[in-house]
Amino acid sequence: MTAPSVPADLRHPALAAADPELAALVAAEERLQADTLRLIPSENYVSAAVLEASGTVLQNKYSEGYPGKRYYEGQQVIDQVETLTAERAKGLFGMDHANVQPYSGSPANLAVYLAFLKPGDTVLGMSLPMGGHLTHGWGVSATGTWFNGVQYGVRRDTGRVDLDEVRDLALAERPKLIFCGGTAVPREIDFAGFASIAREVGAVLVADIAHIAGLIAGGAHPSPAPHVDVVSTTTHKTLRGPRGAMLLSRAEHARAIDRAVFPGLQGGPHNQTTAAIGVALREAATPDFRSYARDVVTNARTLGEELAARGFDLVSGGTDNHLLLIDLTAKDVPGKVAAKALDRAGIVVNHNSVPYDTRKPFDPSGIRIGTPALTSRGIPASEMGTVAEWITRVVQAARTGDEATVSEVRSEVKALMDGYPAPGLPVF
Ligand SMILES: *Cc1c(COP(=O)(O)O)cnc(C)c1O
Repeated sequence: MTAPSVPADLRHPALAAADPELAALVAAEERLQADTLRLIPSENYVSAAVLEASGTVLQNKYSEGYPGKRYYEGQQVIDQVETLTAERAKGLFGMDHANVQPYSGSPANLAVYLAFLKPGDTVLGMSLPMGGHLTHGWGVSATGTWFNGVQYGVRRDTGRVDLDEVRDLALAERPKLIFCGGTAVPREIDFAGFASIAREVGAVLVADIAHIAGLIAGGAHPSPAPHVDVVSTTTHKTLRGPRGAMLLSRAEHARAIDRAVFPGLQGGPHNQTTAAIGVALREAATPDFRSYARDVVTNARTLGEELAARGFDLVSGGTDNHLLLIDLTAKDVPGKVAAKALDRAGIVVNHNSVPYDTRKPFDPSGIRIGTPALTSRGIPASEMGTVAEWITRVVQAARTGDEATVSEVRSEVKALMDGYPAPGLPVF
């Protein structure tokens, strides 16, 4: 649903009156999100309903503890909000238990360590430059300094995880915890394969589905539920909810997870976020959401084919999900230079390391792009050729310093965006 076309100071009247400076910044961000082609795979457009829920008076309540077991009074309503949201999460993802309190994905993962590990214990996760997340035991993260992080990657020839390598590492290092999933992984995750390795070494298996939760909820990626002990997810990526996270688990781990989140790691939950997660979960259970999830994947696959046909080198040769990782080495443009030029053209991506990158993480060889946000605007697969052509022109222009082409593309992008108003944003 799209908000009606009203001036910024009428859309947020109290904010505009009390703080014109910040109101103007919010309006500017609305404009930016409306006018640009947002291809960052971890971003999206939430519905007007999710936005409304996240700006409610629920945020005025303190509710440390869990429904029925709080450290503050006045929980008549908040208990119902949290219980309803947790029930929806369990139903949608098919897990016994849901904790909907983690503030975001990184604290959720830290809670998993607290639940199952002691400092110095070994965790096996995918390395950051290979597509894993910082919190899967990477060195600069608390998870890699307080714990012994052992890291797997992808094969150089296939760009895919090699379960034989994972198993060898697991047998040699005997991790207590194994993470599967990642942040720049364009291929389906073999939850069953990881589960058999985890069982063999007696490790707790966590599926970090932060990126693909919406695809799983919408039936466009296999579910980890039958295979893993714990599911960790953010709620704001493909799932299209507010910024937040959830930990789902088998019944036997419920107590450990709950105690780790509170009082182990956090204080009061953000109740307005909990409500907005509840709204997003209700939306994610609808047929519309299933089509969205399917379209996200179709759009990514089509965009990948269109880019490959224009000489782009896709890590692993393509995608099974919502994201593409592109090695720009053959195009002779560093990832950051390309990403900056694309940004000037109104196409928002992020520069990213590619597996076996020879450049530094701060100045890597690749870019990462994804289709959730454009799919939420209703942009169909038939437009992916146009998108690929824009990317081709701008990457070429970045190499030659051709700013005229960059601004030409920018106005073409704006024209297409005007035809597909974004959920939750005003029509300009
Ligand atoms: C995004 C992400 C996270 C962290 O989420 P934040 O909310 O940014 O802390 C954790 N794991 C994976 C795989 C992610 O992609």
